[in-house]
Amino acid sequence: MMELPFNPPIQHINLPDFNANGVTVYIKRDDMLHPFVSGNKWRKLFYVLDDAQQKNSRHLVSFGGAFSNHLVALACAGAMYNFKTTGFVRGEEVNNHMLNLCKLYGMHLIFVSREAYKNKLDLYYEFAQQHVNTYFIDEGGKGELATKGCTHILDDADGFTHTICAVGTGTTLAGLAKGAQPKNIIAEGICVLKGAEAMNQEIAALAGFDIKVHHNFSCGGYAKTDSELLEFMQHFAQHTGILLDQVYTAKMMLALSKLIAGNYYPKKSKILAIHTGGLLGMMSVM
Ligand SMILES: *Cc1c(COP(=O)(O)O)cnc(C)c1O
Repeated sequence: MMELPFNPPIQHINLPDFNANGVTVYIKRDDMLHPFVSGNKWRKLFYVLDDAQQKNSRHLVSFGGAFSNHLVALACAGAMYNFKTTGFVRGEEVNNHMLNLCKLYGMHLIFVSREAYKNKLDLYYEFAQQHVNTYFIDEGGKGELATKGCTHILDDADGFTHTICAVGTGTTLAGLAKGAQPKNIIAEGICVLKGAEAMNQEIAALAGFDIKVHHNFSCGGYAKTDSELLEFMQHFAQHTGILLDQVYTAKMMLALSKLIAGNYYPKKSKILAIHTGGLLGMMSVM
């Protein structure tokens, strides 16, 4: 049913920080997959929407914060593939460019308190009793089918020794690592949340093996920024023409530059960083 619009290119990063200590870095431009079904969100929805279709579900119901890339992706993909969409949004009613996009694509938004949001399944079951053919998609699209979608990120990537991506729920990393294993590519993740070490087990459960996640590069926690991160984003954009977002991909690339500077990678490593998209989030930072 769904098809990837095209397979995004792999580009060399021509910056001194990423060509130091004997390593070279490339970037997989999954941000170019689609402007609004961005990057890993398309990968994660791929088999989920297929499953919904096969089960004759016509109404996708999911969850997210007020700046959720996942909800925008779901709203847009729903519109493309003829699903109704409903998004439960955490917190009091607000307006922003991301939620406006959700609405433009026809998503029905329901704002719920942080307390109620904790029991997503309860919210879903109550909703499902009043609507027909609904289909539950977890926050951020996480889960096994989403992991499967992410195993394809490396389909056309050969000759790399390492790959790296940003970690929110870790679903993308689990799939990336599964795709990397048969190619003998080492996959690692940069966690963008603070104090989330417990997620390592969930990621291992999704992948079927342990994966290294770096937990010391969150810049203060989820969606937190500092001047170093914002300056890095600007530096990277100005010298490569590639935009990063402050929540995920800029933290990942900044962490990668620090790992390289600290001689973390063996000489001759050829590293593929995954640009997981999410650029809408960047529109609210500067
Ligand atoms: C959602 C998102 C992530 C996190 O993906 P997980 O599978 O939840 O770890 C990473 N990067 C971007 C740009 C995202 O929008």
